[in-house]
Amino acid sequence: MVNIVVIGGGFTGLAFVIHAIRARPAGVIFDLTIVEPSAKLGRGIAYGTTEPLHRINVPSDRMSLFADDSTHATRWLREHDALDTGSVDEQGHYYVSRQRYGEYVDATLKQVVAEAAAHARVNHRRASATGLSKISSGFNVTLDDGSQLEAQRVALCFGHTPSKPPGRIDEDALRDPRLIAHPWSHDALHAIPGDASVLLVGTGLTMADVAVTLIGREHRGRITAISRRGLRAQPHGIFADAADFLGNTTPPTTARELVQRLRQRIARDKQANIGWQPAADALRFELPRIWNALPAHEQRRVVRRLLPFWDVHRFRIAPQIHAAIERAIETGQMRVVKAGIGDIQRHAHGFRVGLKRPGGRIEEHDFGAVVFCTGPARDIERNPLVKSLLESRLARLDAVKAGLDTDLQSRILDAEGNVSPGLFAFGPMTRGSFGEMTGAPDIARHLERLLKDGSLLAYPV
Ligand SMILES: Cc1cc2nc3c(=O)[nH]c(=O)nc-3n(C[C@H](O)[C@H](O)[C@H](O)COP(=O)(O)OP(=O)(O)OC[C@H]3O[C@@H](n4cnc5c(N)ncnc54)[C@H](O)[C@@H]3O)c2cc1C
Repeated sequence: MVNIVVIGGGFTGLAFVIHAIRARPAGVIFDLTIVEPSAKLGRGIAYGTTEPLHRINVPSDRMSLFADDSTHATRWLREHDALDTGSVDEQGHYYVSRQRYGEYVDATLKQVVAEAAAHARVNHRRASATGLSKISSGFNVTLDDGSQLEAQRVALCFGHTPSKPPGRIDEDALRDPRLIAHPWSHDALHAIPGDASVLLVGTGLTMADVAVTLIGREHRGRITAISRRGLRAQPHGIFADAADFLGNTTPPTTARELVQRLRQRIARDKQANIGWQPAADALRFELPRIWNALPAHEQRRVVRRLLPFWDVHRFRIAPQIHAAIERAIETGQMRVVKAGIGDIQRHAHGFRVGLKRPGGRIEEHDFGAVVFCTGPARDIERNPLVKSLLESRLARLDAVKAGLDTDLQSRILDAEGNVSPGLFAFGPMTRGSFGEMTGAPDIARHLERLLKDGSLLAYPV
């Protein structure tokens, strides 16, 4: 029997358990404990929303948990009445609500566990892990209820770290429910009065979620979204699946060469009239190889200079969401402004906010509500479990400090750069080790590929 503790029961934790069970070697029994404080599994930040207008941002046929069965998610969603009329686009792709997609992930886990009942036990422990230490038989995981779990293998799947609001915010403003630091929490947006002028800080996918929720509620006030570069998440174009970015060439070794090659590819695709999206997707498919061929200082250059541009082209929005936002901009209800965030002070009717405009000019504006849409934090060190792993030298940060450093098999590297046998990290916290590990399909494919032959988890203890 192999005893495995999975820390985090969001999408990544469940995808790990599903693929581990399906690929377990004959004769090996897996005893898996998922440590997850929430009552529901498979949701996490992305799929824990109860707002029906929050949709998956890629079509359901690209969100299957299984690489060799691309319609698996769509079939489940169809059988469970989740393909509502609002979810289909002109090309027949389904962008279902994220809540229903979370149900699909959970239901798939239950089915896989039921099919493997004699060989795999899965237990959901409702707690948070606060620490982890090495013992002779493997690891000791400390939980916030004071108890401990022993494990031969530990998979860290605890996902995104919520971000800390940027800017200087006075104490009164921080206490006001109309200043919303975590828009994903249930009902957070209900505190916004229907006619308030709303400031959205950030212009990516979270901003799209919040904007579409307000528009859907027929919000009457003006919506202003700000970001330093004013970049907005882009819509989809043609979908491509070919991993043909590199072809027979060797990967680029500098950030500059990477951009040049991407530009050349886009120019070629432009002549064929297929838009820039297939080039971005082709790069994404081969990113782990390309990323690991870049020296650490070039990886850091990519993060510093290119990441904001990459994010808005890589993380695209569903056509319904794009259309709703475009309409709101056309009618003047919404605007996107190039500005950073300065001081925020509360006053009688809301907040006075300093907006840092290009060139350094500060403009003061009044808003009735402020919502931080800055997405998950990059400073993963703030996570108490990560902090404890770093302090005990069981783990170290990756070269770009985006998450934990792993080898190509997702095995955690300790402070000296040695593999910590039996300790793994998966999902967004490994983005810095692979170049990309945020989207559900990227995470699921990575897990499926690694766990396929069963030896990664079942080697002799
Ligand atoms: C708002 C949003 C929308 C997205 N939409 C899409 C989409 O449409 N399509 C797509 O492909 N990708 C999408 N993504 C990306 C993607 O699906 C996520 O990256 C993925 O869900 C990551 O899952 P996760 O389980 O690693 O992290 P999370 O969703 O952050 O879940 C982590 C889980 O770990 C638990 N946890 C945290 N700390 C501890 C601890 N110490 N002990 C125990 N448990 C802990 C949390 O309670 C949580 O349930 C979206 C991401 C976000 C944030």
